[in-house]
Amino acid sequence: MVSTACGGSAPIENTSRVNLLGLPEAKLVEYFASIGEKRFRATQVLKWIHQLGAETFDDMTNISKDLRAKLNQCAEIRPPEVIQQLDSADGTRKFLIRVSGGSVVETVFIPEGERGTLCVSSQVGCSLDCSFCATGKQGFDRDLTPAEIIGQVWLAAKSFGQFEPGGRRRITNVVMMGMGEPLLNFDPVVDAMNLMMDDNAYGISKRRVTLSTSGVVPALDRLSQYTDACLAISLHAPNDALRNELVPINKKYPIAMLLDSAKRYIEALPDTHRRITIEYTLIDQVNDRPWHAKELAELLRDVPVKINLIPFNPFKLSDYRRVSNNALRRFQDILMQEGYITTVRTTRGEDIEAACGQLAGSVKDITRRSERYRTRADHDAVQTVKIVSS
Ligand code: SF4
Repeated sequence: MVSTACGGSAPIENTSRVNLLGLPEAKLVEYFASIGEKRFRATQVLKWIHQLGAETFDDMTNISKDLRAKLNQCAEIRPPEVIQQLDSADGTRKFLIRVSGGSVVETVFIPEGERGTLCVSSQVGCSLDCSFCATGKQGFDRDLTPAEIIGQVWLAAKSFGQFEPGGRRRITNVVMMGMGEPLLNFDPVVDAMNLMMDDNAYGISKRRVTLSTSGVVPALDRLSQYTDACLAISLHAPNDALRNELVPINKKYPIAMLLDSAKRYIEALPDTHRRITIEYTLIDQVNDRPWHAKELAELLRDVPVKINLIPFNPFKLSDYRRVSNNALRRFQDILMQEGYITTVRTTRGEDIEAACGQLAGSVKDITRRSERYRTRADHDAVQTVKIVSS
């Protein structure tokens, strides 16, 4: 809780002006109450920011001049900054986004027919050090704020003209699968996801917002109290011995504990038909053998899942190799014969190094690149592409 310039307090960032971009509706209502304003003002402002893309309070024409002046004094709408936007020939769009303090995170938009998936980051770096993940190799920098998380959606929507009158909604799905472990940044991630699903903000269906975790079980156990978004588990191995090597947090929260917690999450949701997505990065000769597929099928027998296979994307600091096409097909065939819905994530945006669609192997190779981009930016070598207000 921090004091605001208008008196009262608000539960957010440590600045004198409160950044309303990251406040979900309940906290916005609380904020307006704290400055002596009615709750319907919160809904109005929420719509202005997240449905109409307002960047200043002066844009909010159905709000009195006095209130606008008051908000100008004590609050702000401060998104992070797009420093570069890269467009692939296949429609994939990658944003390099500078957050406060100068670090850079990546956000990737992947179109597929009518569907458009935005892969969003939750932290700068990551502390969990999964052995196949470049971000893990770079260590942890800091958590993103709610405004920096939802700001990635806001900036992407703005870049597609989604806030323009008649603007088509391009972002139909969001996956919290970018840089970082979302459950280690619990409250900001929950706030941002609830904004994504709020009908007065982005109104994305709860079946189309997915949180992906490597298995922070105590946080996963709390999750259903705060959100009913979809769940993906970054599993990557069919047994504890192998998973301990690939995903070290498994030593603390082994597979059985993780799957039990994931089942409890799904069972707590009002919607009974949901499945957990199992993410499995296939690495040549490490976890791609037929017996791994059979063991995985056995492991997941009583869990409502669909399986997403992700060919490992090699990077410099890793000796792992990409799975062969034959091994990939064989792995998928075994799982399908065992009755599992099993998809293979295709590589997208290769010409722009779009990483989000490839999960850990590539989407996480960000911290080092962040440094590179930051250094370049500092020397004015990066072309700054600031999204122009509509
Ligand atoms: S795979 Fe995810 S949880 Fe593991 S180190 Fe990379 S970002 Fe962190």
